[in-house]
Amino acid sequence: MPEWPDLHVVRGRLEKALVGREITLVRVGDPLVLRATRPVETALAHRRLTGVRHRGKFLVFDLDKGAIVVNPMLAGVFELNDAEDKLTRTTALSLVLDNGKDLRYRDDKRMGKVHVLEDGGDTSSVHGFDELGPEAGDFPWSEREFATRARATRREVRNLLQDQTFLAGIGNAYADEILWEAQLHPKRRVATLSDEEMARFYRALKDVIARGVLQVEEHLPLELGTKIRDHMKVRGHKGKPCPRCGTPIIKTRHGLDDMYLCPRCQLPPDSLGQIGRCAKRFHAPMSSTDPTTAIVTLSVPTPAAKSGSDIAT
Ligand SMILES: [Zn+2]
Repeated sequence: MPEWPDLHVVRGRLEKALVGREITLVRVGDPLVLRATRPVETALAHRRLTGVRHRGKFLVFDLDKGAIVVNPMLAGVFELNDAEDKLTRTTALSLVLDNGKDLRYRDDKRMGKVHVLEDGGDTSSVHGFDELGPEAGDFPWSEREFATRARATRREVRNLLQDQTFLAGIGNAYADEILWEAQLHPKRRVATLSDEEMARFYRALKDVIARGVLQVEEHLPLELGTKIRDHMKVRGHKGKPCPRCGTPIIKTRHGLDDMYLCPRCQLPPDSLGQIGRCAKRFHAPMSSTDPTTAIVTLSVPTPAAKSGSDIAT
């Protein structure tokens, strides 16, 4: 899925190309991804784009009246085409502008959402938007404040990184990269990190996101439409040597997600003698405050839980 560095760079590109332009033609390829209170063709025709904003994993297009908020979820991507370029089968929405450019949203998995908001731009109908925490690539906390806030959650480090109410914009790929950089196993509990480990965690978070932005900026083509992942050190590198120690990277599961890590640089909590300590200290909150743990527990024994559509989101 597009994550903070991807959308940060895409935002800048789209702002340059689109702001000030008028929408002259609206083409809907996949109504399934659209969320609107009236036909988007009428809602968006002749609207002018006044700004492009980035918020976590969302992109917001401000219009002279209303706004469009897009959550690309797993597979949604933005494309910048010429209006006469052929539309692809999975183009969900195309907005042709008065300069002949065409902003397209393509979603191969049809899981993303395009919310068309009326004048006033009330985002309460956009799931998860109003609850977003500070931006993962631009949060104001010092190392000490980050440590205090992180420890207060009592969560596992990977779940914390992906909690959009804590920090907005980190998904599976950058979570793997940050934890590899910090040499932390994804299932370590934040509360058990030493001061040195916490410092590594904070630095890795800052550095990996900042480097990601530079890499995406350098390699993202002008027409957009793809995710830049070549700079990743562990994500997608199953069986390849860890760049730090040479041990083959492993791919495993984390709840419903894939996860990549170095089994030597990122030692699991039980090998560090933590499980006993954690279980004693945090026995009650462990299952009730950790959604991933809760989902795993639910999805195994009861068939009803497996069919719940909430699990996928
Ligand atoms: Zn390693």
